[in-house]
Amino acid sequence: MKTLHEVLESADRGHTAVGHFNISDLVGLKAVYEAAKALNLPVLIGVSEGERDFMGVHEIAAVVRTLRKRDDFPVFLNADHTHSLDRAREAASAGFDMIVFDASVRSFDDNVRETREAVQQVKSLRPDILVEGEIGFIGASSSIHDERPNNMSPLTTPEEAREFVSATGVDILAPAVGNMHGMLKTMLRGETEKRIDPARIAAIKAAAKTFLTLHGGSGTNRSDFEAAIRAGITIIHVNTELRVAWRRGMDAALAQKPDEIVPYKHLPQVVTNMKQVVRERLELFSANVAVPPSG
Ligand SMILES: [Zn+2]
Repeated sequence: MKTLHEVLESADRGHTAVGHFNISDLVGLKAVYEAAKALNLPVLIGVSEGERDFMGVHEIAAVVRTLRKRDDFPVFLNADHTHSLDRAREAASAGFDMIVFDASVRSFDDNVRETREAVQQVKSLRPDILVEGEIGFIGASSSIHDERPNNMSPLTTPEEAREFVSATGVDILAPAVGNMHGMLKTMLRGETEKRIDPARIAAIKAAAKTFLTLHGGSGTNRSDFEAAIRAGITIIHVNTELRVAWRRGMDAALAQKPDEIVPYKHLPQVVTNMKQVVRERLELFSANVAVPPSG
């Protein structure tokens, strides 16, 4: 079976992107894994520090490892938005395939220094682990907002991206290119969409020469996703849309059977709702969009 690095290389070459979906529990894992397996597409499971605290770092690592081995299927585990060296080392020791080290809220120089330290420390524990760094703060929370966070960073420049990657040694870079964590209420109602800057992605890709991740994919315009992948995005994160599907599925199940107390009679509705989001996103991310001829 391919390693995560090989999966990313093959997506990069084929101008497709690998879907990354955050989960909080085994219900979410079931939905993401079943959808990916049905489509026979590699998938990244993401758990933030809060999601890890709820599930247990070693518990989720054990489950994902067991699924991958049992089914010989390319499912990988990412320690999403890890803010401290302790948490990064903890995830590396537990067997995670990848770590997103996020010091994006710091100054550029501090971000470089801390991320470089994280890369050195986790790779000394696990030389095969992949580390992603972040430039630009794009909001902290995958939840529903009234308006755009007012402390978002300016978009990442190709020069910053090149300097950050060469100074830190990260395998993967997450730039700020118009994306944002969470969704606005107007996006939930279908009135607005996130717009991405594909020309900037192409310039960053050419400068940084590494894999690029798009965080905060929920609520993004469909053709912007396609253009972002064409321009060089290799991993796309979706969390808020899954959380919305979870909540709506749970509300519907409880409303349909108000007297039911058996969890596994309510939860299939949640799984169905979440699977639909994962399936639609994976189909879009894996579609090989036509690449304009170069030159
Ligand atoms: Zn993120």
